[in-house]
Amino acid sequence: MNIVMIGAGYVGLTTGACLAHLGHSVTCVESDPRRLGPLRAGDIPIYEPGLADVVQACRLSGRLQFADPDTPALGTADVVMLAVGTPSGADGDIDLAQIHEAARQIAPRLRPGAVIAIKSTVVAGTARSVAALVARARGAGDVAVVSNPEFLREGSALADFLTADRIVVGADDPAAAGVMAALYAPLTEQGVPYVRTGTIDAELIKYAANACLALRIGFVNELADLCEAAGGDIARVTEGIGLDSRIGPRFLQAGPGFGGSCFPKDTRAFAATGRRLGARQTVIEALIAANEARKTALAGRILQALDARQNGTERRPRRVAVLGMAFKAGTDDVRDAAALSVVPALTAAGVTVTGHDPKARDQAAALLPGVGWADDPYDAAAGADAVVILTEWEEYRRLDLGRLAQRMSGKLLFDFRNLLCPDAAARAGLDCIGIGRAAPP
Ligand code: NAD
Repeated sequence: MNIVMIGAGYVGLTTGACLAHLGHSVTCVESDPRRLGPLRAGDIPIYEPGLADVVQACRLSGRLQFADPDTPALGTADVVMLAVGTPSGADGDIDLAQIHEAARQIAPRLRPGAVIAIKSTVVAGTARSVAALVARARGAGDVAVVSNPEFLREGSALADFLTADRIVVGADDPAAAGVMAALYAPLTEQGVPYVRTGTIDAELIKYAANACLALRIGFVNELADLCEAAGGDIARVTEGIGLDSRIGPRFLQAGPGFGGSCFPKDTRAFAATGRRLGARQTVIEALIAANEARKTALAGRILQALDARQNGTERRPRRVAVLGMAFKAGTDDVRDAAALSVVPALTAAGVTVTGHDPKARDQAAALLPGVGWADDPYDAAAGADAVVILTEWEEYRRLDLGRLAQRMSGKLLFDFRNLLCPDAAARAGLDCIGIGRAAPP
């Protein structure tokens, strides 16, 4: 089939490349020259493991192309997918400007019978309102709009697409539903479950799934606080509850609070939809507040520990190394990352911060003025009173703690991902403060 993907970001580029890999002919349309330029030159402007190889192979086979929004490929497309951004608007509700703009651009250029599939995460009712917009622009209702939410996770996006837990397609039009079923046949024939609903249900499924996952993280983070207060250990407690088959062991890691391009904005949009429609999502509203408070509290915790270690009235400049800017390991995405809350709070308190991240340094540096940057974690730790780990990169799990301690001037190690063994840190002479377990004396 002929596919046009509008937006070549994390979702559009991955999905476009995977659909080409499955045998479709795909044109990825990108309006930002900073992304389109490298793509046309054979480079990948984002970090996603394995993606460069798939893109390269599909380009060579001729099944994957990159174009600007003027592309003639729109006129012959069977399916046009919208994978543009849907950021938070003013009151937390979703900002659909990019969706509406893209729909207006493509509407007059599609052939009758083409299907528009909304891959972006959008609130209930969006597919129907976009269908009305497209019909007005064309002067005919001959192009259907379906909802096809994406569930891939950055860092494992290829596998998440090709061996998805499920594909969800919401279509109010039977013919369009048939086109989407044909599009995904190479995956459903391999046994990937396929859920066909109406557009409203598909839109709600995406938000409800993210709300469920974010709730688990929010719950386990507060549980970690309770473990600390009661003298328990979150790792043992989550092991004990995770073995209950109704609960399961996944998504029970305590940490600095959820971030990234999806959970924060999607929970906000979910809550805003509830308020708008008179069906308040009070549990999610409380989750959002708790998660924000958690990120703020982390910086307070670091500052308090630094103050406690200052000698008497002598106040000298404090230095902190922050390891991990990406919102999670495996990506260069820093949107709503814990570092974006913690680092500004530290610098505002007069702390000198040196940062490190194996993939997200440039993205973070653009948003965190006044921070120094190091090429490796040991250089970042040079002269630091404290080292703070915010992202669960594998290289931080394997840190040589003796070497780290030697470079530092203090001995505070905040392990906000519980990557390191407190005993090994103690042997290296470091006071390792984790999440949800007793702090060293
Ligand atoms: P992104 O910002 O990385 O990519 C969006 C791209 O669309 C940008 O490169 C932008 O320049 C381009 N664009 C915007 N308007 C355009 C237009 N009219 N024509 C051509 N290009 C245009 O965003 P993303 O992370 O890929 O997310 C896209 C959507 O998918 C969002 O709704 C998001 O919530 C959802 N989603 C994201 C993830 C994820 O892990 N990132 C997972 C599931 C769903």
